Amino acid sequence: MRHLIAGNWKMNGLAASLDEARQIAQGAKEAEGKADVMLCPPATLIAQMRWATRDFPLLIGGQNCHAKASGAHTGDISAEMLKDAGASAVIVGHSERRTEHGETDEAVRGKVEAARRAGLTAIVCIGETEKERDAGTTLDVVSRQLAGSVPDGDPADIVVAYEPVWAIGTGRTPSEADIGEVHAHIRAGLKARFGVPGGSVRILYGGSMKPENAAAILKVPEVNGGLVGGASLKAADFLGIVRAASSGA
Ligand code: PEP
Repeated sequence: MRHLIAGNWKMNGLAASLDEARQIAQGAKEAEGKADVMLCPPATLIAQMRWATRDFPLLIGGQNCHAKASGAHTGDISAEMLKDAGASAVIVGHSERRTEHGETDEAVRGKVEAARRAGLTAIVCIGETEKERDAGTTLDVVSRQLAGSVPDGDPADIVVAYEPVWAIGTGRTPSEADIGEVHAHIRAGLKARFGVPGGSVRILYGGSMKPENAAAILKVPEVNGGLVGGASLKAADFLGIVRAASSGA
């Protein structure tokens, strides 16, 4: 399976950041056919980024969506709006949204259904806290989140991102063996639930991925790419990861 390297810009980026996006788009062209490359900027930049990189194979995603298509939900953005602005994917259930906005697995599932309705790929984030890892409950936690956040139906439009909460933005990562254990567990869960199509769902690793550790992480079995926060903001760093993914990692 070809790796997907997706950058999550979080609440970072102004029009001036489009230069970085253009450089990343150029790198996406060089990686074409070897790795897929996506940027998820703040919603304010989606249309501009789509236009600025229109000649390049750079995928663009949103970072969140509302479960409904339209209505009286001040400040929210629907999956249909993201699609209309030029996105082909949306991140849902990121741990920062689960923590800061109280998103439950049920709420995340509603957003995945919305993405499906709008024709977007949903990148569904799951992962344990440090307390849960220390308590030895990591596999139970990701199983529960997976079962609750991913709706029934053909999972062809689903990407799962395993993001240990304690590794996000901290510079810490699990060992490759630990990453492999969780990814194998997620794969087994997807196959048990969806059958053969569950074998084709991409499972990304996320949490302090950078050029220095990307090649090793991307070689772990059942790691089908990365969701990258901090290191996606600078084209040089992000493209280091893209190169690791496209050079047969
Ligand atoms: C993320 O927020 O999805 C993430 C993986 O962040 P970072 O790479 O900065 O740890």
